[in-house]
Amino acid sequence: MSVICSKCGQDAVYLRRYTSERLCKACLVQTTVDRVRKTINRNKMLEANDRIVVAISGGKDSAVLLDVMHRIERNYPGSELVPLTIDEGIKGYRDEALSAARKLAETLGLKLEVRSFHDMFDMALDDIVNTRDESKPLGACSYCGVLRRRAINTAALELRADVVATGHNMDDEAQTVMMNIMRGDGRRIGRTNKPRSSAIQGFIPRIKPIIELSERDVVAYAHHLNLPYHDIPCPYAVEACRNDIRLFLNEMEHKRPGTLTAILRSGESISDALLQEPKKYVTSTCLQCGSPTAADTCKACKLLDEISSRELSDKNGPKTRGST
Ligand SMILES: [Zn+2]
Ligand SMILES: [Zn+2]
Repeated sequence: MSVICSKCGQDAVYLRRYTSERLCKACLVQTTVDRVRKTINRNKMLEANDRIVVAISGGKDSAVLLDVMHRIERNYPGSELVPLTIDEGIKGYRDEALSAARKLAETLGLKLEVRSFHDMFDMALDDIVNTRDESKPLGACSYCGVLRRRAINTAALELRADVVATGHNMDDEAQTVMMNIMRGDGRRIGRTNKPRSSAIQGFIPRIKPIIELSERDVVAYAHHLNLPYHDIPCPYAVEACRNDIRLFLNEMEHKRPGTLTAILRSGESISDALLQEPKKYVTSTCLQCGSPTAADTCKACKLLDEISSRELSDKNGPKTRGST
């Protein structure tokens, strides 16, 4: 006995638990595209004739992001999609993801832009991690996260983007909201969820179009459309706290479908409330690069300073510069 699609009566291939929809392949694709379109419109993420840089990693989230954006934006001839991959320089990991990203862009008739940590910061992430001071072990993810953000913004400025789209899904976002709450840093929820209209000078606004798609939705869509993606976990990804929260939230979502959506809405209302008190966000700008920051120097500049002082104090000379 086969299960029937709640939209059209064909054989269903997927149950979207939090909406109780049983979907055939065609309706899975259609409802996914519709959800993303609705998210974009509801949050006024895009404007006519936008040049949209789509940050893609080669993984399933960004594969779905680019495919869905392509389906939506082809109805708007004035807008333009520019897929961008940041190559952090993680041996054996990024190389394969990069070829998946390339293949995906190609099948959609788009040209993939690639920028590397090595070109932008003179050092690959592997080198940054290998030369770090073991006595103050800042995790690889701390360097990678801050420097990726800087790299994406620099590349987006250079590519004359109006907006940058990233592939955060509902699970990612709910985890982030919970992590910030559990660290006593609820204010950060407001900082990471600013609407496009309150973008800061020098920063290309960021949008998260697939934020209303659960990870299960993303996997189902990528699987049924056979999208090329490469999804081995990053060798450095041992964010223990996020992992615990992921397991906890997965269990909650399973018992009470809709939990993730509810956390997303809570995050939005915290952001909205914080936006009512705008003065409390940015207290000053970075003396080195002009980015908004609460201190004299922003996090990216601090890390880059630390990395370059490390190179100077290295008696054997910097690890990556010798070969170039
Ligand atoms: Zn159907
Ligand atoms: Zn700075």
